[in-house]
Amino acid sequence: MRLSLVHDRRFQNHVNPASHPESVKRLSVFDKYFQESSLPGKVSEIEPVEASEDEIAMVHSSAYVEKLKECSEIAEYSNQLVAIDGDTYLSPKTYETAKLAAGAGLTSLKNMSDNNIDSSFVAVRPPGHHALAAKGMGFCLFNNVAVTVRNAQKQGFNRVFVLDWDVHHGNGTEAIFYDDPSVFFLSLHQFPFWPPKSGWYKDDGKEDGKGYNLNVPLPAGTGDRGYKRAFEQIVEPVCEQFQPDLILVSAGYDAHIFDPLGQQQISTAGFSDLTNSVSKLRDKTKSNVICFLEGGYNTQALAESVIATMNTLENGGTEYDTIKRTMDEDPNQVDERILDVKKHFAQYWSSLK
Ligand SMILES: [Zn+2]
Repeated sequence: MRLSLVHDRRFQNHVNPASHPESVKRLSVFDKYFQESSLPGKVSEIEPVEASEDEIAMVHSSAYVEKLKECSEIAEYSNQLVAIDGDTYLSPKTYETAKLAAGAGLTSLKNMSDNNIDSSFVAVRPPGHHALAAKGMGFCLFNNVAVTVRNAQKQGFNRVFVLDWDVHHGNGTEAIFYDDPSVFFLSLHQFPFWPPKSGWYKDDGKEDGKGYNLNVPLPAGTGDRGYKRAFEQIVEPVCEQFQPDLILVSAGYDAHIFDPLGQQQISTAGFSDLTNSVSKLRDKTKSNVICFLEGGYNTQALAESVIATMNTLENGGTEYDTIKRTMDEDPNQVDERILDVKKHFAQYWSSLK
């Protein structure tokens, strides 16, 4: 076996208000699709272990961790959800569920080295890529990917490539590694979008980290073909040149054509294409890959796309390859943006010249 799936019903213990898109159904529907797919038996299924407070402290301030613990306690005693911003809530079991999500990547990593597994999907919630060191936002509490990066580095994974294809910019991950050349952060996202003023390509890192933060802000309506061109022309060359020993993917599925929040047009087969690029990079750089669930709010599209991602990591195929591929709304606009990004980053990365 080369693929593992970290999943657990306990991820459904974090509850949002009834009309909130980040619902427990996201994972219960996925679990049903997974059981009905050809994957069980071909995948090593792993139960996650909660991250310790020391492991979380590699990224988050202790005052912030305490605050989340306290908000969960208030939710329990008041029997009401506690909001920390306009759309980010804690329920009675949120604190422990968030610790489980923060630990899932570490569980996956440990299992990979013990069992010769080179790819993993970590099906967690709450998601993580908007979470800053001392502030949760955008449905995110702990930055699950960042906690995995920092603890993996302690175990000898020195160069980590973080790829974020969620429709929203991964502002939290960007901020955490902005001055750090040991972590390459590359985010493709709809722009302009949420968070406001976040994710422009000229935000390219600072100090020693200059050139190691690469945003690909794509116009609304970029479809399968535009994303594929961005992967071929930017993601693949810079990742190969960076030579990571670990690749982490913030795999959100809210760029799917059926998603209620995003306006990108990626089909389920399109996500398979993006995963194919990641598999190629895994093989070329001889590194392991862990994909973390971030957004994705049409439960059926989400479930099918995660299955497509897992199939592609496992054997290069997909169970949903009959689904129609989508076109860019304005291919010229997409190509111009890809060219702007390439030109800007060619000063740092010769592979983009
Ligand atoms: Zn998102």
